[in-house]
This record gives sequence, structure tokens and C-alpha cells, in this order.
Amino acid sequence: MKETIGWIGVGSMGHRMSRHLANAGYPLVVADALSTERAPAGAAIAQNNAEAASRAATIVLSLPDGAASQTVARELASAPNRKVKTVIDTSTIGIKAAEACACLLAASDIEYIDAPVSGGTSGADKATIAIMLACPRPSFEHFKPLMSLMGKPFYVGPQPGQGQAVKVLNNFLSATALAATSEAIAFGIKQGIDMKTILDIVNASSGRNSATEDKFLNRIRHGHYDAGFTAKLQLKDIRLYLEAARAAGIADAIATPVVDLWQRMEAAMPGADITDMYRYTLQRGRS
Ligand code: NAD
Repeated sequence: MKETIGWIGVGSMGHRMSRHLANAGYPLVVADALSTERAPAGAAIAQNNAEAASRAATIVLSLPDGAASQTVARELASAPNRKVKTVIDTSTIGIKAAEACACLLAASDIEYIDAPVSGGTSGADKATIAIMLACPRPSFEHFKPLMSLMGKPFYVGPQPGQGQAVKVLNNFLSATALAATSEAIAFGIKQGIDMKTILDIVNASSGRNSATEDKFLNRIRHGHYDAGFTAKLQLKDIRLYLEAARAAGIADAIATPVVDLWQRMEAAMPGADITDMYRYTLQRGRS
């Protein structure tokens, strides 16, 4: 019999990721503040987060932000009849919040593993997401088989927050590439060149990036603005990057205008998908 895994947060990412554990035969106990409707078939439902803490030694979190992770960490740390020993947090929450969660949980002798993910909802479906684990090496080796069911685990380092550092720098790069590619493609089309021609050449040349190879080629080119990742979440991630880069004394000459641009885009198109950056670029012209 496999160990019962607690899962808190079955939103866009969580319900997809947890399904792989259920399919591999792990009994699950699921909690979600809003709805557990998307819990994998057969999963046990906990009435609240504390109940999950009393029923599973390992709990995985997939929560919206640092405030939610810290609230849940407090609830788990103070749960009656606590069984939980390890909390694996796959949420994107930034370095400071990951450190705070680790501290909160350590006081109750619970290990916190910082484990943000990248690869979107399609990667979560296909179990191809990158999982960036920051924890002592033996914990990484212990949980590697479990995490491998949901994606590709990478060992980042021993300190909570190091996983977050890689996650937010990755999203800064991805957000920058998408914004820059939107401007460059708009320019190419204005010169009378077909989008597919531009993409084929760039993807065989030095300007290729995640926007040219995937978002433009597979979605925007076909009029599909559906990467499944909202500009709002993207903005959260790149703000966390900018704040951490400034705190570390790292140059922010690119990050500052990139965050400002995504902020303006999100304000102009509330609820937009990240691929809508191209439509926003076309609308905004030279501003
Ligand atoms: P989501 O908002 O769809 O899901 C979050 C879930 O957490 C919701 O079901 C919500 O009800 C639940 N929740 C919130 N507060 C709670 C609490 N206190 N107790 C219990 N449940 C609570 O978000 P998502 O898109 O699934 O993203 C989850 C995390 O993964 C985020 O940190 C996000 O930045 C990150 N992420 C998302 C994507 C993506 O493509 N959506 C990709 C990579 C990483």
C-alpha cells in the first residue's frame, strides 16, 4: 500500500498534477478553500487543511501566492493530531515567502520543500513540467520518485527560496521574450512578411525563444490566445523577480520596463491570457 499524500489546492495546476499521483496508485486526501470538485476521482476529501494535516505525513501545496502558502503553513503547523512531517510547496510565492513558510513549519518540526514548477497547464497534463526543488539533498532523493510522476524534478540547492529564485528568473526571461517577440513580429508583418515565414527563419536563427518556438508558432499564429496562464499570474511572478533582483543589488534595466509593460497590459485587458500581449502590442502602437 502506497503512502497517503495530502494535496491542498486543486486549481488549474493542482488538479492536473494530483491526478498523476492518483493514477499511480497513491491514496490522496484533498483540501481546497473554494472547491474540491476537481479533486482526482477516488480521492478522499478533507473538510479543511488541518484535517489533511492529520491524515497525511506528506502534503503537497498548489496555492495562488505567498499569503496563501503562509496561511496554510500556519494551519498545518497548529493542526490537532498532526501527522504531517513534510510540506512540498509547488506554488510560485517568491523567496521571502518560501523562507517564512520554512521558518513557520520548522518550529513545529515539519520540513518545508520549496518546489515551484514551470511548463503551464499543458505541461501539468502531460507530466512534463520542470519541478525546481530546494531542500537538503537526501530529501530530494527521497521525494524524487514521487515528483517524477508529475514532471521532471531538478535539484536547485539546500536553501528554501532557491527554487523560487530559479522560477522567477525563468518567468522574467519568458515574459521578456514574449513582449519583445510581440513587437518584433508586429514589425515584420508591417514589412509585408507572413508570420509563419518570420517564425520559420527566426526559429532557425539566433533570435529564437520560447515565444517564437511555442506561443507564436502553435497558438498566436492560429488566432488562439490560450496558453492557459493569465497575465495576472505572470505579473505576480515578474514582480517577485524584480523585487528580489533589487534586494540583491542586481541590475534591473530590463526588468523594470518589462514589469511596467505587463502591468499596463493587464490593466488594459483584465483577465487576459499571456498570449494577449501580441494583441495589446498591435493595439498600443508606438506608446
Ligand atoms: P489557481 O488559482 O487555479 O488554484 C489555486 C487553488 O488554491 C484554488 O483552487 C484555491 O481555491 C486554492 N486555495 C487558495 N487559498 C487556499 C487556502 N487558504 N486553503 C486551501 N486552498 C486554497 O492557481 P493555479 O493556476 O493552479 O496556480 C497554482 C500555483 O502554481 C500558483 O502559485 C501559480 O503561480 C503556479 N503556476 C501556475 C501555472 C499556470 O499555468 N497556471 C504554471 C506554473 C506555476
